[in-house]
Amino acid sequence: MTEMNEEWALGLYKGEPYISGEQPNKPQIIKLNSNENPYPPAPEVVDTIRDFEASNLRYYSNSIGSPLREALAEHHNVAPNNVFVGNGSDEVLALSFRACFGTGKPLLFPDITYSFYPVWCEFFNIPYETILLNDDFRINVDDYAKENGGVIITNPNAPTSIGESLEFIESILKNNSSSIVIVDEAYADFSEVSADKLLKQYPNLLVVRTFSKSKSLAGMRIGYALGSEKVIAAIIAAKDSFNSYPINSLSIAAGVAAIDAKDYYDEITSKIISARNYATSELSLLGYNVLKSSANFLFVGCDSSQEAENVFNYLREKDILVRYFQKPRIDKYLRITVGTMDEMQQLIDVLKDYK
Ligand SMILES: *Cc1c(COP(=O)(O)O)cnc(C)c1O
Repeated sequence: MTEMNEEWALGLYKGEPYISGEQPNKPQIIKLNSNENPYPPAPEVVDTIRDFEASNLRYYSNSIGSPLREALAEHHNVAPNNVFVGNGSDEVLALSFRACFGTGKPLLFPDITYSFYPVWCEFFNIPYETILLNDDFRINVDDYAKENGGVIITNPNAPTSIGESLEFIESILKNNSSSIVIVDEAYADFSEVSADKLLKQYPNLLVVRTFSKSKSLAGMRIGYALGSEKVIAAIIAAKDSFNSYPINSLSIAAGVAAIDAKDYYDEITSKIISARNYATSELSLLGYNVLKSSANFLFVGCDSSQEAENVFNYLREKDILVRYFQKPRIDKYLRITVGTMDEMQQLIDVLKDYK
């Protein structure tokens, strides 16, 4: 009778999951912990969502995300067959891992980067090897010239905020013509660099992007990948082995409206970049070591890991939520999302009173 025997639990999943930033339910909080956009989506997107014909939801959505797929193809100057649309770029990346990294040789990525990558490797049984960033948190191209089953680079990198040049990405591609190279461009709209220009030349390149950050649509869950027809076809086959309709009809409509609203997004992006540059110089004046950011967040060095944690807790008491990673090499840093100029001013004012 006493149920000590838990044999039924033997087959439960034991992998270590990714831990995302918390989503507190407190309206007064200044939320700078998940790299979300401080501005709402474009008015055109809001109108599209309001006017959406809900009765059409009785039909399944378009399984490959048309007409968003076509809009993205035009936007990036590629063909629709070069575009995969999915339910957030986390899902696009997961399916891409399954579709692209099946050689049995290790996937290479930096030790400090998006911490979901090792989680997917474990989930899909993909061997991997992490390669140390140098002391300035930069990637050494030559480290990626060895035999591998694939490479993934986040550019600009997270959580370091550092962006590398197009020439840098091209060197990685030149050194790795025998494997697939994914460039995760979650933050590329805040930098000047996108590897989309290299797609025609490198059939082994896959560029992954999201509407969650620069398009203010994290809650809509829209991500996509750009690549050669052959790679995209493999990702579609992975999708159709898992979930036929990953992107819902409302997200497709909102996504098209967001692509059309270029002027609005250019404007909010440049506001975020101004706030980023302002916060970088003000925090530096307060004595923090702020890395030069090409993204919509700052990686802010404190004197010690103890201090980073104390500042994190202090900000949290003041209703400002940032991200602290208790991990080797980055435990002296806080990752702070760039909000509005007003939010950055409040952050700076609160930090002026610290200690
Ligand atoms: C935010 C983020 C993603 C995931 O974005 P979603 O489209 O919201 O799933 C992927 N990669 C990196 C590096 C990110 O920071």
